[in-house]
Amino acid sequence: MATMRAAVYTTFSGPIIVQEVPKPTAPVGGLLLRVKACGVCRSDYHGWKGLDSDIVTHGLPFTPGHELSGVVVKLGLGTTKFQVGDRVAVPFILSCGSCRQCARNRPTICEAQGQPGFTMPGGFAEFVAVPRADRNVSLMPPKVSFLQAAALGCRLTTAYRAVMQQGRLQSGETVGVFGCGGLGLSAVMIALAAGDNVRVLAVDTSEEACNKALELGAWHAFNAKEGASLAPARVGMTQSEPMPSAVNRAAGRSTRPKRRFASLGRR
Ligand SMILES: [Zn+2]
Ligand SMILES: [Zn+2]
Repeated sequence: MATMRAAVYTTFSGPIIVQEVPKPTAPVGGLLLRVKACGVCRSDYHGWKGLDSDIVTHGLPFTPGHELSGVVVKLGLGTTKFQVGDRVAVPFILSCGSCRQCARNRPTICEAQGQPGFTMPGGFAEFVAVPRADRNVSLMPPKVSFLQAAALGCRLTTAYRAVMQQGRLQSGETVGVFGCGGLGLSAVMIALAAGDNVRVLAVDTSEEACNKALELGAWHAFNAKEGASLAPARVGMTQSEPMPSAVNRAAGRSTRPKRRFASLGRR
């Protein structure tokens, strides 16, 4: 039996060990991917702690990793959109295409979704079997690196749904982003790309995260831990305004009628 190397944990919160495991085959309608890059995010941590019901249902041992990109090495029966050698990015939600949510063009909340790294073995391995490839997998433009592509499938798609589909952000609007880790900074970038004159108010407890948000083009950033607001000259607020009231004002405004509030977080 052909084998490959993969990172595996056999107990929740236990050691993660690289070991030889059976090499998967290309599933019907899918492809076999040689993994070139795989991101890690907090959902991986939750899964490893035993807090993810999909992983609990799958059972141990388990190989995590849901933010992956790589090269197609084999096509499954019925897969038509790809060729061996293609560079591809895999979203962490593999939608079915036929449920109620897919019919509404809401594939990220597909009722029958599969997820590498949660419902099936993931990307911390040499190879991953990716089902439903024609519908879900994307070809990578040559100028996009494997590392960059691996960052797209989880945080960017999640933030996109919040900002564009749930938030329905329009030109000229102001959006507050509370928490500027990978997900929040993706929301900042998407909001700024969404239309003209969009203003982003970024809030985090880390100065580094606040500065990153400003670097990406946020209109204003609040360090909620220090009670300091960064770059006050860029907004109509004054530095003397107490930070908590400014943040409360922003949050309160977002939940008034005609304002929209989206809370993100997979687990
Ligand atoms: Zn993730
Ligand atoms: Zn579906």
